[in-house]
Amino acid sequence: MNPTDLPDAARALGRSLAGEAERVERHGVERSTLDRLAAAGLHGLAGPSWAGGSDVAPMVYREVAECLSGADGNTWLVWFQHHPVVKMLAASANVGLAERYLPDLCSGAVQAGVAFSHLRNPSPSVVATVDRAGWRFSGTQPWCTGWGLIDVVLVGAATDDEVVFALIPADDGPEMCSAGELDLAAMAGTRTVALTLDGLAVAPDDVVLRMARADWLAADHLRAANAQPSVFGIPLAALAHLGRTAPEVADALASRLHDTRQRSYRLADADAAEASVDARLAATAEAVLLGVEITSALVTSLGGKAMVRSHPAQRWAREAMFHLVFAQTGALRAATLAQVATAPRFWPAERRAFPDV
Ligand SMILES: Cc1cc2nc3c(=O)[nH]c(=O)nc-3n(C[C@H](O)[C@H](O)[C@H](O)COP(=O)(O)OP(=O)(O)OC[C@H]3O[C@@H](n4cnc5c(N)ncnc54)[C@H](O)[C@@H]3O)c2cc1C
Repeated sequence: MNPTDLPDAARALGRSLAGEAERVERHGVERSTLDRLAAAGLHGLAGPSWAGGSDVAPMVYREVAECLSGADGNTWLVWFQHHPVVKMLAASANVGLAERYLPDLCSGAVQAGVAFSHLRNPSPSVVATVDRAGWRFSGTQPWCTGWGLIDVVLVGAATDDEVVFALIPADDGPEMCSAGELDLAAMAGTRTVALTLDGLAVAPDDVVLRMARADWLAADHLRAANAQPSVFGIPLAALAHLGRTAPEVADALASRLHDTRQRSYRLADADAAEASVDARLAATAEAVLLGVEITSALVTSLGGKAMVRSHPAQRWAREAMFHLVFAQTGALRAATLAQVATAPRFWPAERRAFPDV
């Protein structure tokens, strides 16, 4: 398929996913749905052409991700976690591993997930120790989406001064197993689990990346400061409804969202020297908070019927809340809290003179 046709394919899929989103949240994402996304060419967006990927421009990926996240957040999240694996493998010095997996990852015959968010914490909870020519990974990764749906998982572990990422079959076994599905307030259908690793053997052939932890953290700090398209996909879907229930409010919020979205994507496309991390963090914080505002406006405009599980308004509001914490770094947490604390509506001018009131 021509890469420029992929957003249209996503929109067609999105229309059918939207009708099923409530059921999917209750009963869980199904592999057959991921296979439909794969058949439409949506698993190889970030992959190189030699492996069958379409290596699309960032804006094509964004349109697809916005569409899927607004249609069915649960399916979007499982699909989303596939892409970091494709990207890291495409850039890997382990050419043998890339040749082994990338064609099937790009076609979607193999579905991937990730388990490395703990590396952002000052005390990483999965550690790697040298074992002969390879490694042993031990500890707990608190989040892994898609368990039972994915075939392989990219696991990250820390040594004293390095990070090691390995691609591992996503099966329960004595060395790695799910510690149970998490009972989540949003994205409950994503089969998200905590993973326990007990001396998981990692051969050198399975290592995707090994680098100094400080360098990885610096690159991740920059990457995670940029807003994900899903942060916009959810409020865009909510705005389409708000346009019918409260048109004037929808117009005002739509223009703010448009401005934040343009700015976020412009910053994400800029290189590190052109746009500071602080500017990226500020735009992302604005975007996630605007998502909460827009979905709240829709709930308010609908009244009680917004609380019915079959209405998407309450689900979008919970998914906007999920984006307050998803892919959160310490810096993003601080930037978001700073914007909440300084937003004028939380401290109106007439009360500023009376801080004890
Ligand atoms: C539904 C859901 C699904 C998810 N799926 C996945 C998945 O499939 N794979 C995956 O890898 N992750 C996944 N995540 C994790 C996600 O990307 C974020 O990492 C997570 O939401 C951040 O919250 P936390 O409580 O786990 O992190 P925390 O450990 O609380 O850390 C959050 C941030 O605060 C900072 N921080 C924490 N403690 C300190 C401290 N003492 N000093 C300084 N800074 C500190 C760190 O920089 C860290 O990045 C998922 C999260 C959710 C909610």
